[in-house]
Amino acid sequence: MALVLRGHHLLCVHGFKGMGYSPEFVEKMSEVVMDIRNENKDFPIKIVADLDDTCKSCPNNGISKCVASENSNDHVLTMDRKVIEQLGLKDGETYPKSVLVSLTAAKVRPDDLDVICAGCSWLSYGVCKEGIADLRQMCQSSMETY
Ligand code: SF4
Repeated sequence: MALVLRGHHLLCVHGFKGMGYSPEFVEKMSEVVMDIRNENKDFPIKIVADLDDTCKSCPNNGISKCVASENSNDHVLTMDRKVIEQLGLKDGETYPKSVLVSLTAAKVRPDDLDVICAGCSWLSYGVCKEGIADLRQMCQSSMETY
């Protein structure tokens, strides 16, 4: 069965450093992040602008929407849609993880996060931009070895 991931989490996974909304959420996100960063592993991921498999472990999960704050659901949905559009994906479609990681490396620059992730409380830590920069470098060097 495919992992279900909301669009903006395709970016979060590259900068994730163990910070999160609760121990349960951090544990689930760490699991997903390890699988996605594992170059020897490929698996299907269904991309959505909606709650996903990591949201199931989040204390802000309001069953049908994010309830972290009054505007949080609209905010995360906007980020999901921006990522889905920038990567040229379709909401609800399933893709191999390797394709999603390559598309992210090719189509997202660190400074794009200023626009895509505007309003996210983690953005100012800088780790997400670093994660995208590292991913781009890693993908570029692995292409150069061919
Ligand atoms: S700034 Fe927020 S939404 Fe953007 S990648 Fe980081 S944690 Fe995810």
